[in-house]
Amino acid sequence: RAKSEGRNGYCFFTPQMQAQSRRALQLTNALRRALERQQFTLHYQPQLDLASGRVCGAEALLRWTHPELGAVSPAEFIPVAEDSGQIIAIGEWVLRTALAQLAAWRAQGMPELTMAVNMSAAQFRHPALPEVIERLLAQHGLPANRLELELTENVAVNDTRSAAQIMARMHDKGVRLAVDDFGTGYSSLSQLKRFQIYRLKIDQSFVRDLDHDGNDRAIVAAIIRMAQALGMRTTAEGVETAGQLVYLLEQGCEEAQGYHFARPMPAQEFESFVRSQTAQ
Ligand code: C2E
Ligand code: MG
Ligand code: MG
Ligand code: MG
Repeated sequence: RAKSEGRNGYCFFTPQMQAQSRRALQLTNALRRALERQQFTLHYQPQLDLASGRVCGAEALLRWTHPELGAVSPAEFIPVAEDSGQIIAIGEWVLRTALAQLAAWRAQGMPELTMAVNMSAAQFRHPALPEVIERLLAQHGLPANRLELELTENVAVNDTRSAAQIMARMHDKGVRLAVDDFGTGYSSLSQLKRFQIYRLKIDQSFVRDLDHDGNDRAIVAAIIRMAQALGMRTTAEGVETAGQLVYLLEQGCEEAQGYHFARPMPAQEFESFVRSQTAQ
């Protein structure tokens, strides 16, 4: 982002910064039409309970395909949608779609799944969020504890009072709160305890090199022990190898997701994946 301001308040743009802001503007404009033109879809990544080896949940991950720009990664367009305020409407679409899907799966007799939905800071702080969630849960007759909201550490602990109030209200309702990408932010233990977090998701950067990096092994073991001591569950993100899985099991990690098990996939494929697992 072009933030560097000159000493006298002038802005200096390098060609690279110019290209970046051109792209951001292009994406902002394209995003304006994306909802009405139905360019968004959700993919679902299975979350596995390590004790049973069963799928226990799905994480909804947003996908955007634009006719000219092609598939744009959420890592690129989510920050743009946050800056332009569009994330509020997009985030509501994600919640609506993911909860409708969860209700459909339950109606099809799928096992007790949870649905994990990623939240941006602005979306989580938005005063209308609790009503939106309560209305959607009621509309589909879903138990609140089947919904898990994934917040980043900085939203969870370093944010405004409104975020704290919304977290308390969600928790009282029974909705679960998970801290995403745990270990990459600035939260302290006392803050975590205050917020009644259900789950820590261990960031994939600590999982990636577990097979050969002693420091990462120590960090992951410490996170799991800390979570256990505070009464929280842990999910490892980005599990790609059997070696990583073995270590996580040894350390008492409860759940995992990653390419070792399955990639994020369209709803129908997710259903076949769960069915094939259940048949085994
Ligand atoms: P995240 O919530 O931490 O999601 C995990 C990301 O890691 C996903 O990338 C997923 O596809 C990827 N992943 C899963 N397993 C593996 C693995 O084994 N190895 C590797 N290398 N990667 C793996 P994705 O789908 O590109 O999403 C990126 C980020 O975009 C998400 O990170 C999340 O922060 C954000 N995001 C996605 N969907 C939404 C949404 O609906 N709302 C908001 N606010 N943010 C979203
Ligand atoms: Mg997530
Ligand atoms: Mg993550
Ligand atoms: Mg992330």
